[in-house]
Amino acid sequence: AKSDGRHIARFFDPGMQAAADRQSALETGLRDGLARHQFVLFCQPQFSIRGRLVGAEVLVRWRRENGALVSPGDFIGLAESSGLILPLGHYVLEESCRALARWRGDRALGKLKLAVNVSVQQLRGPDFPAEVAAILARSGAPSRKLCLELTESIFADDKQDLADKMHQLCGQGLCFSLDDFGTGYSSLAYLKRFPLAALKIDRSFVHDVHVDPDAGPIVKAIIALARQLKLEIVAEGVEHEEQRDFLARSGCYALQGYLLGAPMPIEDFESMYGAAGHA
Ligand code: C2E
Ligand code: CA
Ligand code: CA
Ligand code: CA
Repeated sequence: AKSDGRHIARFFDPGMQAAADRQSALETGLRDGLARHQFVLFCQPQFSIRGRLVGAEVLVRWRRENGALVSPGDFIGLAESSGLILPLGHYVLEESCRALARWRGDRALGKLKLAVNVSVQQLRGPDFPAEVAAILARSGAPSRKLCLELTESIFADDKQDLADKMHQLCGQGLCFSLDDFGTGYSSLAYLKRFPLAALKIDRSFVHDVHVDPDAGPIVKAIIALARQLKLEIVAEGVEHEEQRDFLARSGCYALQGYLLGAPMPIEDFESMYGAAGHA
């Protein structure tokens, strides 16, 4: 193969090479960023349909050396393919639990549930339940306030192993919600098979709920299904009052989106919603 110059030339396509270089520079950046604590937690509030603050979702951001704030959409994929999602996910979970421990002493924040996104690779690790137990113990966080968000992609894995791990984790007091519901690989049978506390309706459905004649009935059906199965329901990506009103009329339990509050640095979230700030 070495003598076949044309074949080799294909591998060294300059465009592909440039893409590969960018990829590896980004990977090095991620690795350094982890070592230098450049990852920061943002929080987005979640409200009950009546307008009471009930929880928040943690969304990670990467604050680069030059001050630029990078969205997870630009690095989670690479973190997953490079394995860096494991230390990054650990860091996010640890910081989230430290926040929950801090919030214990606050009349308002102490009531909130905190949702943390967990990647399928984290859950695949045989030690994940023990890792979570250790983080909970070390931080002193109330496990009942912790909710782990999983996407439907986990259902492509070994289902018995997944169910066992989820039950072990539930035994520690935390709960699970299924993120981006309706967009991925999932069978309705899974909703009964795995210990889930909530479904999050993907924002693609919420987006045109008040305009698209198909989106409305789909959202109504998801809400009815969740109610039958005694699952809580959170609609994400709520941007307009029409969407909120439609969701309220359809019996949705909780809402998250720019209309109600954008993700913000966790310190800002604490001063905005903490009782200490208002008392
Ligand atoms: P997600 O879990 O579906 O999170 C919701 C995304 O929607 C967030 O994007 C949030 O900023 C955005 N959003 C919130 N309200 C609205 C709205 O009203 N309209 C619209 N158009 N968007 C809204 P973000 O922060 O860029 O995060 C993107 C994804 O990255 C997340 O999607 C999640 O899958 C992943 N991610 C974020 N943090 C973590 C993490 O700590 N670990 C892992 N494994 N994944 C994470
Ligand atoms: Ca999520
Ligand atoms: Ca989501
Ligand atoms: Ca989503």
